[in-house]
Amino acid sequence: MKAVVNEDLCIGCGVCESLCPQVFKLGDDGKAHVVADDCSAGCCEDAKDSCPVGAISLEE
Ligand code: SF4
Repeated sequence: MKAVVNEDLCIGCGVCESLCPQVFKLGDDGKAHVVADDCSAGCCEDAKDSCPVGAISLEE
């Protein structure tokens, strides 16, 4: 599974990075970026469910 961040929606709150730092990193642009395609730790789902603006989607 692969996470995708919609940067138009992301408000840079950092929740995804704190829940799943191996996959999400906040960039200098104040948006979250996907830095790894590996969701095997299972936290991508948590990040998706916890994103306040629904900016994270998961693809097979
Ligand atoms: S949780 Fe959502 S809004 Fe917050 S930084 Fe991550 S993608 Fe952006």
